[in-house]
Amino acid sequence: MEPQSSPTPHVLIFPLPVQGHVTPMLNLAELLCLSNLKVTFINSTHNHQRLTRYTNIESRFSGYPGFGFKTVPDGLPDDHPRAGDKSWLSELIQGLASSAKPVLSEIVVGAEAEAEAEAEKVTCLITDGWLSFANDVANEAEVPVIAVRCFSACCLWAFLCMPNLIHLGEIPFKDNEEMDELVKNVPGMDSFLRYRDLPSYCRTKDIPTCRQLQHLFTGEMQQIQKAHSFILNTFDDLEGPILSHIRQHCSSSRVYSIGPLHAHLKYRLGPNEITISKPNNSSSNLWEVDRSCISWLDQKPDKSVVYVSFGSITILTKEQLMEFWAGLVHSKKYFLWVIRPDLIIGSTSSESLKLLEGTKERGCMVGWAPQEEVLAHRAVGGFLTHSGWNSTLESIVAGVPMLCWPYFADQQVNSRYVSEVWRIGLDMKDTCDRTIVMNMINDLMDKKKDELERSMRKISDLANKSVSQGGSSYSNLDHLIEEIKAMSNKGER
Ligand code: UDP
Repeated sequence: MEPQSSPTPHVLIFPLPVQGHVTPMLNLAELLCLSNLKVTFINSTHNHQRLTRYTNIESRFSGYPGFGFKTVPDGLPDDHPRAGDKSWLSELIQGLASSAKPVLSEIVVGAEAEAEAEAEKVTCLITDGWLSFANDVANEAEVPVIAVRCFSACCLWAFLCMPNLIHLGEIPFKDNEEMDELVKNVPGMDSFLRYRDLPSYCRTKDIPTCRQLQHLFTGEMQQIQKAHSFILNTFDDLEGPILSHIRQHCSSSRVYSIGPLHAHLKYRLGPNEITISKPNNSSSNLWEVDRSCISWLDQKPDKSVVYVSFGSITILTKEQLMEFWAGLVHSKKYFLWVIRPDLIIGSTSSESLKLLEGTKERGCMVGWAPQEEVLAHRAVGGFLTHSGWNSTLESIVAGVPMLCWPYFADQQVNSRYVSEVWRIGLDMKDTCDRTIVMNMINDLMDKKKDELERSMRKISDLANKSVSQGGSSYSNLDHLIEEIKAMSNKGER
């Protein structure tokens, strides 16, 4: 009798449609394709148009015959800026729940119908936090869910502890004076986590919002516990102690730490496929990259430039822009600053770029930079960042110490870990003053440079080891792929 060949698992991947989630999920998709899994990536229609306009995304995946895109509406009007005050993110999540849910159902049902044999059916849906409706769709279709969170384990752990913090009355905080006191009930963080370091959502003073939060984070916990397994974009040598707490807490699902995903993908693609030689090929930019900054960096001495970027969502007031600008100019360091077209509230990018007129010699501003390439450039010596999780991991992999100005969500926790636990950067949270900016840039680039670089080198080496053959993230990904293959073989659903 002919031996029966194993079916190819078919994985659906559905990220929250924002840059910081699309990028790592596309990297995950490509990692699964490299193991010959069939992958359908579900983008919002709006983001898919931007991706195809600004990258060679189709050609990036053209070598993987099992890969395909599907799109769902994000529920926002075409002319919605999808930027501005962060409240647009709640609109996005609501819009998705009403508009994307039926289309996602059709995609799942359609994929099921297309499958010629039982074994070819959808193996699992890999989906992001905040998209609880995607979990509902999967449950209705009896498709197992693998949960992913695109933020740090330390932030996730703080989230998971929040219902208890609310129950014990630690949240809401009583007043601002409490902000520097230590939080008592986040195990593993009691010696350094202050109220001001909790995820920004905790900064609420009213009980009804607290109740909503309690509900949200209890649901978050249940989603993870119900998931078949759970993926985090981190590595054991960075967040091992916190991962142990999470593993204990979520004992019903297996937790796979497989990051940093961008470095992991680069390693598995091998030296011939490195993105830097084909910058647009493996990027996932939702903005047009301005590569002129690379030739500008080429003219600068080693480690002399501060790279300044606040990610894809953060916005600044004009006053904050002026404080950063003055601090940067007075620090007398070179700086490369990403001024997204929608970075400044109530201002156009051309207005902001006029700022530079007097500082052309020291500063270069672009609308969107090839960030990984910039961080890897020999001229970059420090990163003024909003502490988004992708930016933090990219800085770690490139070995560039950080000056953190967290804006919201996980960033408050990340920046505390960067400064107090990993000691690879400085934290200026909750201040935005030109003298502080200037002094902290000088600390980053001169006074504290050596000690920060020493710890950064160690952590950066561990990051690169974790994604190399034999490393923890490398073997965790192998195990995850085996698990997906086993799900498909057993027809576990
Ligand atoms: N990024 C980029 N060019 C820029 C600014 C940001 O490529 O000019 C990328 C950055 O490399 C990272 C992502 O955008 O992968 C931002 O994600 P992060 O989690 O740091 O922050 P978020 O945008 O989610 O707040």
